Amino acid sequence: MTKIRTRYAPSPTGKMHVGNLRSALYEFLIAKHADGDFMLRIEDTDQERFVEGATEIINRTLKRAGLVHDEGPDKDGGYGPYVQSERVKTGIYMKYAQELIEKKEAYYCFCDKERLAGLKTEIVEGKEIMIYDKHCLSLSKEEVEQKLKAGTPFVIRQNNPTEGTTTFHDELYGDITVNNSELDDMILIKSDGYPTYNFANVVDDHTMNITHVVRGNEYLSSSPKYVRLYEAFGWQVPVYVHLPLITDENHKKLSKRSGHSSFEDLIEQGFLSEAIVNYIALLGWSPEDNREIFSLEELIKDFDYRRISKSPAVFDIVKLKWMNGEYLKAMEADLFYEMAEPYLKEALGEGFDLPKIAAMVKTRIEVFPDIAGQVDFFKKLPEYDAEMYTHKKMKTDAASSLEVLSEVLPILEQQEDYSNDALYQSLLAYVEKKGCKNGYVMWPIRTAVSGKQMTPAGATEIMEILGKEESLIRIRKGIEKLRG
Ligand code: GLU
Repeated sequence: MTKIRTRYAPSPTGKMHVGNLRSALYEFLIAKHADGDFMLRIEDTDQERFVEGATEIINRTLKRAGLVHDEGPDKDGGYGPYVQSERVKTGIYMKYAQELIEKKEAYYCFCDKERLAGLKTEIVEGKEIMIYDKHCLSLSKEEVEQKLKAGTPFVIRQNNPTEGTTTFHDELYGDITVNNSELDDMILIKSDGYPTYNFANVVDDHTMNITHVVRGNEYLSSSPKYVRLYEAFGWQVPVYVHLPLITDENHKKLSKRSGHSSFEDLIEQGFLSEAIVNYIALLGWSPEDNREIFSLEELIKDFDYRRISKSPAVFDIVKLKWMNGEYLKAMEADLFYEMAEPYLKEALGEGFDLPKIAAMVKTRIEVFPDIAGQVDFFKKLPEYDAEMYTHKKMKTDAASSLEVLSEVLPILEQQEDYSNDALYQSLLAYVEKKGCKNGYVMWPIRTAVSGKQMTPAGATEIMEILGKEESLIRIRKGIEKLRG
């Protein structure tokens, strides 16, 4: 059996978008599921779109996402070079273009801009496409040679038939047949000598022994032309998997405007790379059972590209947040603290028992930036309303709370040990003496020391963090507030 070989073939044009990462992930999973090779190829032949530093972003992102390639610019596996601009220098694209010319499957075109501007155009998928009229196909061999000798600028075009049909197979979309008359004679080699993506992807996927190609379905309409190239060369067409669009909540193409369209945006927003990868795996793919939490190892084991759905996948930030929260809950405590510390420091500064506070919030946040909102009351008692003392289930109201706070104040003033346990024992003794429920006492105390309806911990844990002096100040303030 042939070894499965996949490639992620990004163009270094900026940040790594969720859709790019999904292609990379699926390519990685297809290869690793079958013990195959996953390759990185940099497609930088479109010099105008090249963005400085973009290759570094790609490398950083793949590394952080755990998508380790077996071959690539930094890891030679015998199929290099792995950067297209370097492949151009080896003459490989020109050599294959010449082969097509010999087979009459391609031809030189010397038409200048002015002539091309006068040609018919057609609207294909919303874009105005120029339909080349095969003018240069009729040039004689001698005429071509003369022009080449004279240094006339040229491109090399694919020579597509005007009759018949071409059929290709996509794993998700099935067999797709198009009329050859719809296939334009696309440029294979540009006037700068560089290949177009349209040509390079075929030459490279073949010469690098790629078996499976996963890419966005924006390439679906060009695929018949790629298949014609494979056939012209007599090469085997790889397995094609064209992925559905990723949309935002409004079913519009996920764009920069959403604020969370790239991997690095999401990392900056405090998401864990494991959670991002897990979530992205599910953007179009689902396992047989309804499981949702997958480590990369589990994805490798369970991933089957035949289960990818054709319908557009909606990027749901709420769902990603939930998933991230699940990862935080499951995270080892020390690691959680290490990652939470900068956020805790930013929210609280010095003087607090940060590891203890980290443990309190671990199961209550979805992303690290949620920490501030959970813990800010430790630093400063927020303004709150006396209404908050009234709680139906706890059977408390303003009067009962005033009574409780006034009675526990002297106990707490005398208390020396402000550890959670000791405070709890003292208050429990008071509860028993009073013959009431715990909540009847703990609710007003927690309200007074936190000023919040919801806190990451109970009254005594909060007082332990605040210490005696600050706890008493807040309880006295509560009493004042309740006295009106
Ligand atoms: N360089 C192309 C892109 O970044 C890759 C498409 C493909 O995977 O073939 O869109």
